[in-house]
Amino acid sequence: MKIFNTLDRRKEEFVPLEPGKVRMYVCGPTVYNYIHIGNARPMIFFDTVRRYFAYRGYEVNFVSNFTDVDDKIIKAANEEGVDSSVISERFIAECKKDMEGMNVMPATVHPKATEEIDGMIDMISELIEKGYAYEVNGTVYYRVRRFKDYGKLSGKNLDDLQSGSRSLLVTGEDEKEDPMDFVLWKPKKEGEPYWESPWGQGRPGWHIECSVMSKKYLGEQIDIHGGGEDLIFPHHENEIAQSEAASGKEFSHYWMHNAFLNIDGTKMSKSLGNFFTVREVSEKYDLQVLRFFMLSAHYRSPLNFSAELMQAAKNGLDRIVTAVQRVDEHVKTTPVTGQLSESVKTAVDALVQKFEEAMDDDFNTADGIAALFELVKASNTALDEGANLETAKYLSDKMHMLCDVFGIITEKKEEILDAQVEALIEERQAARKAKNFARADEIRDQLAAQGILLKDTREGVKWSRA
Ligand code: AMP
Ligand code: ZN
Repeated sequence: MKIFNTLDRRKEEFVPLEPGKVRMYVCGPTVYNYIHIGNARPMIFFDTVRRYFAYRGYEVNFVSNFTDVDDKIIKAANEEGVDSSVISERFIAECKKDMEGMNVMPATVHPKATEEIDGMIDMISELIEKGYAYEVNGTVYYRVRRFKDYGKLSGKNLDDLQSGSRSLLVTGEDEKEDPMDFVLWKPKKEGEPYWESPWGQGRPGWHIECSVMSKKYLGEQIDIHGGGEDLIFPHHENEIAQSEAASGKEFSHYWMHNAFLNIDGTKMSKSLGNFFTVREVSEKYDLQVLRFFMLSAHYRSPLNFSAELMQAAKNGLDRIVTAVQRVDEHVKTTPVTGQLSESVKTAVDALVQKFEEAMDDDFNTADGIAALFELVKASNTALDEGANLETAKYLSDKMHMLCDVFGIITEKKEEILDAQVEALIEERQAARKAKNFARADEIRDQLAAQGILLKDTREGVKWSRA
């Protein structure tokens, strides 16, 4: 497999640190509002990367954080007159709902910055001891000039950066040794959340959280670090400076960055106000369509959001899902058995290979999807010609395999709903057994609200829709 590594701006063969395993970290959202569809691009893309590694037989440890302490969260909390954790918890929950709608798998771990403060204090202390950081009046800064590789990811040169940033000094920052030095810890201000630290009460800077969470859940060295391209500088450059100065080892071997999701040719962002939230889009389209739309372009190409492209994505997705459901129905109902058709097998295998070649080439999902469309066509033709059970099964297996990598849900809505009802009934039975009647009643009420009627019979609980 080849991956485009931002570190040297070329495609490189993927060699994991540990055979058969992938350790990856993807910077997650700052939770002060609903996520917008620009934020959804890295979520959907890196989820697909994760799924493809799993398809290739790797065990993937996938960590993605929630930034739950930040100026914007504090501002939103003050406006509402609530604690900032009320805002962050609310939007973490909403974000998880959106992720589910987009069929983005939950990360192996979703750490929250506010729960990792001790680790941050440890790393900052270590950086001070090693001479990479210094404290002035309760603020701890990273001494950028001390880290000789500073700029290696973004390709920026410290002297150029410095001449550009001299005028950017904001009030209170004149205490820095160098205008490029960045904050690791800042003293508390009135009305802000704070933690105790060796430098007084305060809170961490943004960059330190990812270095610390990545180290805690994945180890000092990881295979892949990802995020949107706006994070290359300064966020990822600073993560490298922190992690590598602390450990003395290379932090991440591959750095992957998705291009922007644009609207009318401009980056979609909250600060520009030109954004749609995932929630808004979900009112108009199934979020599966949004996912498919994102994957229809290469992740390193900018992608423009438009109604026409969403309609095209919807049509394409419908074609795939209809074909999979058709072949599955055929498998259930065909009376014709026999040998797997050699010609169908040869054609299908060639298309699966085409799919793998596309994905092996720096996750070219656009070409991978093209191979899936060809598979759909081959399947429809084979069924038109009255494919036997074995042939239909072969087609079905391969189509499901590819759909799983792209995160395309092929089951009918009713089937998914039925499965959810059955899971709840099972949970209710378990709750009753454990004498947790409160939970059992809660589930019964929840089901009743959905119009599900329960009936205890000798063979167990039967259910029906009112
Ligand atoms: P934020 O909440 O701004 O820290 O962003 C969370 C993630 O979304 C980061 O990986 C960003 O790079 C990414 N992101 C934000 N806006 C866009 C956009 N318009 N297109 C693609 N990725 C974006
Ligand atoms: Zn990060």
